Amino acid sequence: MTVDHENIVGIDGAIISHPKVWEASGHVKSFVDPLSECKKCHHRFKADDLTEDKCPDCGGEITEPRVYNILVPTELGVIEGEKIQTYLRGEACQNIYLNFKNVLDTIRLKIPFGICQIGKAFRNEVTPGNFLFRQREFEQWDLQWFCSPSEMDKWFEFWKKERMDWYKALFTHPENLTYFEHIKLAHYAKKAFDIQYATSPFGGKEIEGIHWRGDWDLGRHSEYSGKDLSYTDPETGEKYTPNIVETSGGVDRTFLFLLLDAYSEEGDRIILKLNPKVAPYKVAIFPLVANKEELVKKANEVFLSLKSEFPVIFDDRGNIGKRYYSQDEIGTPWCVTIDYQTLEENTVTVRDRDTTKQERLPVDKLLNHFQNKLAHS
Ligand code: ATP
Repeated sequence: MTVDHENIVGIDGAIISHPKVWEASGHVKSFVDPLSECKKCHHRFKADDLTEDKCPDCGGEITEPRVYNILVPTELGVIEGEKIQTYLRGEACQNIYLNFKNVLDTIRLKIPFGICQIGKAFRNEVTPGNFLFRQREFEQWDLQWFCSPSEMDKWFEFWKKERMDWYKALFTHPENLTYFEHIKLAHYAKKAFDIQYATSPFGGKEIEGIHWRGDWDLGRHSEYSGKDLSYTDPETGEKYTPNIVETSGGVDRTFLFLLLDAYSEEGDRIILKLNPKVAPYKVAIFPLVANKEELVKKANEVFLSLKSEFPVIFDDRGNIGKRYYSQDEIGTPWCVTIDYQTLEENTVTVRDRDTTKQERLPVDKLLNHFQNKLAHS
């Protein structure tokens, strides 16, 4: 987001802020989850997730939903009795609104522009679970895009498509990514969509939300802080409170969905078909055997020549077949084997994870070869 778009900057804001921030944002009053409990098996459910009046696990009777605020409280100050209660941030985006004026005053940006942040958020979730899907401490990636009220429709559609295209380019099964349109909307929103991924264990789930926030956030922070957060267009002189399109996604959920998306089995092979761009190692380097000094020395040279460019792993355990299998399992897209022919003509075999095809390439062409492959993956 910040590298490919010249009008988006990144910030790293505070985890704990003044409690008024969370009053202004509306979280103290309404960051709530209604929770129902089964009277028989005592399993708990978010009321929004229930499609029937009975327990999905045992069919038992369900209690009326009770409402819980999911902000995580903490205290600031050292003197007992004088501490103030505040909250760990419930979402990463509030920092962006707080820093809007700092960014506007210090960086040469004109509206429309965006501020991004990746960071931890904390929620006292009532139903944590499903691996990384719902946690009490998780990582969000957010964009807040500030624009003129008259351009909201255009930018909403732009970011809705841009974010979907970004996820589609990363996933091996892009057909599992769909939009879910919200019918129940916040009072300031004209539309809201989720980007969902169809998981095999627990169905279609939200990975990122695209939200129409209008002038709600800057309006509220302006009211609670007493600071003018309006913007005057330098060309037309028009003064307005910037409107916001938000894209708010989960790093942990993306990671979980990428794993589910990439996992595949072919016979007795387990393959993590990760896009090379997100594979933890791009290349594995193997000397054909571990007990021939010249081969290990040469393999080490190749390893060092690639290591500074991208993550590379060296493996000399067991036989080559086993090494291929273990790299397939962690998603390494390419394996390079240094053999006796390498010592004679400075070429190696490069084996592709997905096709298992091998080709012979000169050592001095390797860096360029993998850089090209990565750029086009
Ligand atoms: P949900 O409806 O699943 O609770 P949400 O609509 O409350 O999610 P947002 O507040 O829009 O989620 O947060 C943006 C993103 O942060 C979500 O799309 C998701 O990827 C991630 N996220 C939200 N809550 C959690 C959580 N408890 N654990 C992990 N990721 C989360």
